[in-house]
Amino acid sequence: MTSYAEFYRQSIDQPDAFWTEQAALVDWFTPFTRVCNDDNPPFTRWFEGGQTNLCHNAVDRHLASRGDQAALIAVSSETGQEKTYTFKDLHAEVQRMAASLQAIGVVKGDRVLIYMPMIAEAAFAMLACARIGAVHCVVFGGFASGSLASRIEDASPRVIVSADAGSRGGKALAYKPLLDEAIRLSSHKPEAVLLADRALAPMTLVPGRDLLWADLRAKYMNAQVLCEWLDSTDISYTIYTSGTTGKPKGVQRDTGGYAVALASSMKHIFDGRAGETYFATSDIGWVVGHSYIIYGPLIAGMASIMYEGLPTQGMDGQPNGGVWWSLVEKYKVTAMFSAPTAVRVLKKQDPALLKKYDLSSLRALYLAGEPLDEPTARWISEGLNVPIIDNYWQTETGWPLLTVANGVEATPSKFGSPGVPMYGYNVKLLHESTGEELLLPNEKGVVVLVGPTPPGFMQTIWRDDARFVNTYWKSVPGKMVYSTFDWGIRDEDGYYFILGRTDDVINVAGHRLGTREIEESISGHASVAEVAVVGVADALKGQVAMAFVVPRDSGVFNDAAACLKLEGEIMKRVDGDLGAVARPARVHFVSLLPKTRSGKLLRRAIQAVCEGRDAGDLTTMDDPAALQQIRHRLGAA
Ligand code: AMP
Repeated sequence: MTSYAEFYRQSIDQPDAFWTEQAALVDWFTPFTRVCNDDNPPFTRWFEGGQTNLCHNAVDRHLASRGDQAALIAVSSETGQEKTYTFKDLHAEVQRMAASLQAIGVVKGDRVLIYMPMIAEAAFAMLACARIGAVHCVVFGGFASGSLASRIEDASPRVIVSADAGSRGGKALAYKPLLDEAIRLSSHKPEAVLLADRALAPMTLVPGRDLLWADLRAKYMNAQVLCEWLDSTDISYTIYTSGTTGKPKGVQRDTGGYAVALASSMKHIFDGRAGETYFATSDIGWVVGHSYIIYGPLIAGMASIMYEGLPTQGMDGQPNGGVWWSLVEKYKVTAMFSAPTAVRVLKKQDPALLKKYDLSSLRALYLAGEPLDEPTARWISEGLNVPIIDNYWQTETGWPLLTVANGVEATPSKFGSPGVPMYGYNVKLLHESTGEELLLPNEKGVVVLVGPTPPGFMQTIWRDDARFVNTYWKSVPGKMVYSTFDWGIRDEDGYYFILGRTDDVINVAGHRLGTREIEESISGHASVAEVAVVGVADALKGQVAMAFVVPRDSGVFNDAAACLKLEGEIMKRVDGDLGAVARPARVHFVSLLPKTRSGKLLRRAIQAVCEGRDAGDLTTMDDPAALQQIRHRLGAA
């Protein structure tokens, strides 16, 4: 048996041989002629000359051997609905959706924006796009009109697929009015909007633009739509993620490299076996949803559970902190994937719930998206009695960068560490200012990747190669390396520990948000002169956003009712622009913000004060009274 160290070495030293072997895990219509083309870094191209299709690999290729096996299990504790689609059913539904999109005029390369709750139709739409070579751009259903509008603008979709409503905690969240407003705000207008009607919220259809999925589905009931064979380097999708500017970045992914990366990670990292059931509790609006709710498990021939609802709500809509465990028991889930925040929520539930269900099918729980704290890891590890496997990655990477590959060799995990570099990723730690590689254990540096980047990694930023290069590959002077914008250290055994972001990105309950986006929304309020938003440590959500606002009218300071009113208005504005996920936990009013003499906002100092830490070197600070005032406000809050 190969040791993981050997496996990893081969992936870095002989990438062509290594990835050729991995590529055999997927079906190719035309074999590739070149494995890795890194002639024009950092634009690495994988499996050139090869043709394949993600939908074929996720659905069609399983029809002969496992057509009647469960493929997609759509469960909603919001509506109480639960439905299993076999591979055959899924094949039929995807073809109906593909035929509908084609009838509207969608052709290869067109963008289809998907703004949907966690319902089976969302999976049909993604797979249908993959089938016909359209590029899907899924936007998280929790985002509101402003965020959605900027994504519509950037993606310029021919069609938008949406629904009347999502639902959370038993309350319907109407999507259609948010979508209509987003389309009004965007200068790009889609030709058609295809809507799933769940009868949760009334919809007013725009004549000539809006179409009902039920009508088209009925029309194309028996549709047969062949897979379009795509070049390996053709775009499969874009997914937006936050950065340090207000403008979201469209992370663009290829087809063949992504298929291989997922098939390979399902085998080596997630130990996913055909015929078994996988349960990722994420959302299709995030990269985890793309890779490990939809494509990864299906490519591996597994059934995938798609869950709509809270982790603490039963199928009857009543509080039930055991609902996920009941699904593990019912569907004999073997691998589960969630986020530390969700586990911290479950930790507040009755511990007896973990013993109430038969969880013997479960082999491991994978957690990602934010740092996994030791008490949470220990609690769930003792409760489930299976390995808890932390994995670190980013929207940009598409699959884990640091973890342990137990499918290659059983490797112990260490509390607090996501693990070791995954095969294909040439990970280094660099000194933040000199760019020197840090070779000694336990030195803190920036986690970077040396190219070529592995299959599945982002190709570029949608329509903005220059931004891709300048944002990610030029942050270390004199070196062309990909920056993760995370601090890390590596111990003497080669395990990495992630110490937080180097930029202004925050992580709320595993959701990545740019503080600049929130600041832009808040500064749009007529009563706001200036604003700073920082991420502050939170016991449940990891981090929460905290806003410090300089109001235009200083009279607000001495008027508690006016403060409260303005705080409420600001929160509402963020809800409407970006969605409740981005809403600051508190808005504090101050007369000035801490800045350097050159006018740069000292967010890090504000954050330190909020977290009760030392504010660090303040020699460049313009007016120390600004931080004093923040301390005072926090004390008074
Ligand atoms: P996203 O692109 O939304 O998945 O966010 C990626 C960021 O989340 C990373 O750059 C890290 O800052 C953080 N992150 C993801 N997974 C982990 C993990 N296992 N441990 C610590 N931080 C993580």
